[in-house]
Amino acid sequence: MKELIKQLVPGIKALTDGIKTTGHIPVAGTPIEMPFTLICGTKQGKDILITGGVHGGEYPCIETAIQLAKELDPKEVAGTVLIIHPVNTAAFLARMQYYGPYDGKNLNRVFPGKATGTVSERIAYVVHQLQKEADFFIDLHGGDIHESLIPFVIYSNVGSKEVSEQSRQAAALLGFPYVVGSVSENGSIGGAATVGTPGFLAELGQCGRWNQDEVEQYKAAVKNVLRSWATIPGQVHTHQVEYLERMLVATALHEGCWYPEVKLEAKVTKGQKLGEIRDFFGTKLSEYHAEGDGIVLYLVTSLAITANDPLYAIGVQAAK
Ligand SMILES: [Zn+2]
Repeated sequence: MKELIKQLVPGIKALTDGIKTTGHIPVAGTPIEMPFTLICGTKQGKDILITGGVHGGEYPCIETAIQLAKELDPKEVAGTVLIIHPVNTAAFLARMQYYGPYDGKNLNRVFPGKATGTVSERIAYVVHQLQKEADFFIDLHGGDIHESLIPFVIYSNVGSKEVSEQSRQAAALLGFPYVVGSVSENGSIGGAATVGTPGFLAELGQCGRWNQDEVEQYKAAVKNVLRSWATIPGQVHTHQVEYLERMLVATALHEGCWYPEVKLEAKVTKGQKLGEIRDFFGTKLSEYHAEGDGIVLYLVTSLAITANDPLYAIGVQAAK
């Protein structure tokens, strides 16, 4: 991973062991420069890539990445930790949900990206090159400006069984209550898994807010995972979590006003009505029913809804 950073960042100083380096990774052909901190440990260990702010409106994870970058001490680190904080600076500064301001694309739907693509595709391409070099990929997310959620973590099932299992075990060490499998290939962790890099996508915080308590929880969770590889010293805590097989995401058929009829973490059954979209005259346009039995993991809270955007996600338990 160090060699690639030397190639990507012009004029970077020598990356010696026991040194913390900060700077910006330029995304070729775009105005984007991603702030990064590279912590080169003094002992042999894994190369870990941590990204915060693939989505610009998810504040607890971005502040977590910023504080982790400050706190990790290279003298205590084994291996290398690269933290990008945040990835999507343009979306962050524009206070945008899901999308980036240059091309209107969702960065977490364009992996593995394209070297000569749109701005989002080019950002994904650079992150993907780093994923290839990393031994593990940690992608920090949360509920977006218009989303509520309970903390959960997603791991990818698109790679080998071994990569999925490594990802699942590490994901459980965060201590978030639900661990969910995914088969999405164009998301960040799908992009990593297809090149053999295990990883997970964590979700904590919501609704365009952040506070230090959430950030402390998030940092402690990530540090617990880092301890499991001896990247940092200390005892690893194991947690009781619930494993869910997959996530069913409902998307809006119409634009208009969204009226959910369910609460977060509710247990729902297949066919149960979970909400409806109405027009500006209060006339119903479409109804939404659970597509399977499971638990409501996230829920859009805004009255405004755009066609094709997510409404909620249900985590489905594995068949017994
Ligand atoms: Zn996100």
